Amino acid sequence: MPSELDYREVDRRFFERYLRDFLPARMLDVHMHVHRQEDVPPLTQELAAANWATAVSHPEYLAHDAEEDYAKLFPGSEVSRLQFGSVVRGTNIEATNGYSAETADRRHVWALAVLDPTWPADRLHETLVAGKFNGVKPYWSLVPDAQEGEVRLDDMIAPHQLEVLDALGLIAIIHVPGPERIRAAHTRQALRRWCRQYRNATFVVAHVGRAYCMPFAEASFADLASIDGLLFDCSAVLNPHVFELAFNTIGPQRIMWGTDFPVLARMRGYRVWEGEKYRNVVSGDYPWNTDRQPPDVEAEYTYFVYEALKAMREGAECAGLSTTDLEDVFFNAAHRSLASDS
Ligand SMILES: [Zn+2]
Repeated sequence: MPSELDYREVDRRFFERYLRDFLPARMLDVHMHVHRQEDVPPLTQELAAANWATAVSHPEYLAHDAEEDYAKLFPGSEVSRLQFGSVVRGTNIEATNGYSAETADRRHVWALAVLDPTWPADRLHETLVAGKFNGVKPYWSLVPDAQEGEVRLDDMIAPHQLEVLDALGLIAIIHVPGPERIRAAHTRQALRRWCRQYRNATFVVAHVGRAYCMPFAEASFADLASIDGLLFDCSAVLNPHVFELAFNTIGPQRIMWGTDFPVLARMRGYRVWEGEKYRNVVSGDYPWNTDRQPPDVEAEYTYFVYEALKAMREGAECAGLSTTDLEDVFFNAAHRSLASDS
């Protein structure tokens, strides 16, 4: 059955023009989600409306789906990954973690445990050791009964949990919560405190702090650059100016490539930025996608991840990144920290 996601001539042309000579032979995707349908709650209207990305990820994304996507989208590259489960509220956390752990070989595939912020230290320690996880993925929706706008970083991961990460020398990939994203001073203060206090742990700020629009990037990147040891992933960023500023301010040694699959593999279209807001212009039949274009216009859309990589390339070129810098971003930095744990 032909699908919206089948590889098309428009994708091949885009890849040849912008990506073939940009993507290195080895890539390591540090931010992607795998999950089985039976481990996540059913998609209700409320859930789809509350989080557009949840509607796109539903119902499942198996390890072998991800491998097919990498082969389809990046034909010249060998892609390793750091995977984690679903962070949707109501997910069976133990089950989603079990799936991540059992599909990780720790040579090409590593895993983080989705973190329940109520777990006591011994429970977290056991989970991490038994599943051979490289660390944790906290998320605002896993804080019981909390609304996104109210959650702070300190609610997403408890002090005794930070101590476990520090003792084991593991990673946390942090999605910064709230409408102010990385621009909230208390968020950057918490990151600064953690980096100072838990020196054996590695803190990675997802989506460069969700600074998808320039006002958030301009207000925070210089301060973030001054936090010793703090790292970043650039998944789901499609803004070339954000990439340029991130590479110039934070530097390529501290930024790691990620896709946020399945979302960026499943959407076709592009993103527009209007001040502090962005809009996804896409062709998928999602409940939130109410502003559709005529079919001949939508037929020209390529995968979101291709648009993200083109933007990354533009930002990298403007910032003057070398081939070596890009090999660090795409693979080396992440590989060093993951392979050293095993
Ligand atoms: Zn994600």
